Amino acid sequence: MKAELICVGTELLLGDIINTNAAFVAKNLAALGIDHIFEAVVGDNKERLLSQLEISKQRADIIILSGGLGPTQDDLTKETVAEHLKKQLIYDEATYKHIEEYFNKINRPIVDSSKKQAYIIEGSNVLKNEWGTAPGLICEVENKTYILLPGPPIELEPMFKKYVFPYLKQKSNTVLVSKTLKIMGIGEAKAEQMVKDLVNGQNPTLAPYAKDGEVHFRITAKAEDEDKARKLIEPVYNKLKEIFGINIYAEDEKTLEEVVAELLVKNNLKIAVAESCTGGLVASKLVNYPGISNVLIEGVVTYSNESKKRRLNVSDETLKQHGAVSYQTAIEMAEGVAKTSGADIGISTTGIAGPGGGTPKKPVGLVYLGVYIKGYKTYKELKLMGDRQRIRERSSKELLDFLRRELLTSNNKL
Ligand code: ATP
Ligand code: MG
Repeated sequence: MKAELICVGTELLLGDIINTNAAFVAKNLAALGIDHIFEAVVGDNKERLLSQLEISKQRADIIILSGGLGPTQDDLTKETVAEHLKKQLIYDEATYKHIEEYFNKINRPIVDSSKKQAYIIEGSNVLKNEWGTAPGLICEVENKTYILLPGPPIELEPMFKKYVFPYLKQKSNTVLVSKTLKIMGIGEAKAEQMVKDLVNGQNPTLAPYAKDGEVHFRITAKAEDEDKARKLIEPVYNKLKEIFGINIYAEDEKTLEEVVAELLVKNNLKIAVAESCTGGLVASKLVNYPGISNVLIEGVVTYSNESKKRRLNVSDETLKQHGAVSYQTAIEMAEGVAKTSGADIGISTTGIAGPGGGTPKKPVGLVYLGVYIKGYKTYKELKLMGDRQRIRERSSKELLDFLRRELLTSNNKL
């Protein structure tokens, strides 16, 4: 089954409002397994809407319209769809009563123009608007379904959930189920290369999304029911697990900090964080996890050399000989914060976030991460691109991922 969406409103074309209805409807169509093949935005103009309806009718089984159902002069969706379908608009007493009730409820007198909203396309089903005044309409004509919805998202979204979703679900005999695997430590091009034999599948499909040093692979299957879709996903999922192994840090909605925090809590490992260039971002990410208080002792921002020495016991000699941005300093920071706070684990960042401060030997984007786990010490060197904010954000994610890998691969450290 193919669907198209037409959003009506000149304010959308002017860029005055963001088309959130399009994203909302698209997500729901995807979940329903309905092919969403085109999206259009048309101004409040009868001729152009008529011509769009003609085009959509050629391609889609379901045509969803949002906006232009209101009482004002520029609201012409209902009138235009009626003309397109060569149907009459008829006065619907029940709808008028409902609008009247709505005005009573909000303690305002009903306005004359509300009468206009009580007209419906003949033969259509009325979707009661409990969140506003304009009713939605579902109109089935010659194997095509027209669904008219009010523009305000606070009306469209609940109306869609309550009436349109179940209606379409019963019409569609397929569901779409997705599973996402999130990967760090492998670049987009390399990751795609590694799965090139899997990406040409039709059902399930495999789609990569790259963002901020991560690659997500989404496996999507279409089937009669959820169980069958999950069975289709399984072999591809297993294959990806085999290919990417430890580089997969999480699945679906799970975040990196959740995964790391859960590992810490599960193993009852206390942690402390010492940050220089990330300035608290690492601790802040950990604190996103609600149960972190069981394991996080403290996070300190030791920005100056003086603070690294005084607070973390980084040695004067290390700083003089290797500089603050060095793996030696990163390790001493991690060890220092663990020992001074009584934690099992200490982790650290030190680097050059830019835009200034870089040298040919130590350019902007050079960052060292330190990890100390009960006497075991290790570090990682990063060479990052981007502006200050991006370098800081990436560094903090990389540190959490680095710790995750260390915790998973080093049982002797726990
Ligand atoms: P109303 O009865 O409020 O006039 P309507 O069905 O006629 O409702 P429109 O007049 O097209 O809808 O839009 C009303 C308001 O709804 C817009 O000013 C805007 O705030 C919001 N809106 C409309 N279309 C969209 C959209 N596609 N995405 C997000 N918001 C929208
Ligand atoms: Mg309007």
